[in-house]
Amino acid sequence: MWRGMRYARSRSSTSDCRSSRTSGARWSRITVHHSADVEDEGSFGSLGETVATLQRIQRVHMDPGDPSHGWGDIGYHFLIDPSGRILEGRQLDWQGAHARGVNNRTNIGVCLLGDFSRRAPSAASLDSLQRLLDDLRERFDIPATRVLVHKELVATACPGPSLTAWVERYRKRGAPRP
Ligand SMILES: [Zn+2]
Repeated sequence: MWRGMRYARSRSSTSDCRSSRTSGARWSRITVHHSADVEDEGSFGSLGETVATLQRIQRVHMDPGDPSHGWGDIGYHFLIDPSGRILEGRQLDWQGAHARGVNNRTNIGVCLLGDFSRRAPSAASLDSLQRLLDDLRERFDIPATRVLVHKELVATACPGPSLTAWVERYRKRGAPRP
């Protein structure tokens, strides 16, 4: 399944009771995000820099003093850095926290690291996104039409116009398998 992907696990799982176990519920959709932080794009370099970025996002998401976060783990299931590395965030045993409330049900969260409000993501990160989406869709039998962007679920600019247009094209193509 993951062969050919530069794939690394960032840390051991720290999920707790604030996350819901998926308990056999099938994944039925995938939602694409950007991290909206230009600082996250410093990771064209080493894997260590990308892991440090993930840990920073994880700390924000798990901060018990933050009323809008304080979750059981990083909210996204997968994260992709500008050089195309795919990293696992929250394990797929757990419901994500990336699209607010019931929108998270059976919904896999994928986040591209960087702020794409005004720019397009790198070609390498989009190649990896395509491979990841194709793989997840095959694995869980998810139709291309069920690949969404964050702003289709809640009022947000995420993931920016360029990545939104990419996802719309991906859906139209029916995402031929590589
Ligand atoms: Zn988002």
